[in-house]
Amino acid sequence: MRKAVFPGSFDPITLGHVDIINRAIPLFDEIVIAIGINADKKYMFSLEERLQFIKNTFQSEPKITVTTYSGLTVDYCKTIDSNFILRGLRNPADFEFEKAIAITNRKLSGIETVFLLTSAETSFISSSIVRDILRNNGDASILLPKEVTQ
Ligand code: ADP
Repeated sequence: MRKAVFPGSFDPITLGHVDIINRAIPLFDEIVIAIGINADKKYMFSLEERLQFIKNTFQSEPKITVTTYSGLTVDYCKTIDSNFILRGLRNPADFEFEKAIAITNRKLSGIETVFLLTSAETSFISSSIVRDILRNNGDASILLPKEVTQ
């Protein structure tokens, strides 16, 4: 069984994440969307809110489960018997950053990271831009799944 973990902060989940997840569904038997808990990081949305946004977005998709984890992503993957990490790539900066992490993770654990390139329509979307818009009382709904805005 091919099980992938899609780790991230999802603060909040955007249409960019949704695009990567939807395109990964045919590639795997199960995708675990896993919100990493980092005590040092400040978030706009609480863990409960971020979890609920993702659960609502994928409620009718049987291959998707949503959870949280702390510690190393590769350790979490081992606890649930997952051999793949899924990540999205938007630009060269993502690539440089992700490359070092993916190689390190593979050396640490043998776990492969599978990258999907963002679609042209969602490549400009980032959770940090969404947060900037929301902080300034703007309308970010074109960047978000309807389950986040409703
Ligand atoms: P992190 O804090 O780990 O970067 P994010 O929630 O920001 O977590 O992102 C999780 C994953 O989703 C990363 O692989 C990131 O590159 C990817 N991602 C975020 N936005 C997009 C987008 N617009 N298109 C494709 N992938 C994206």
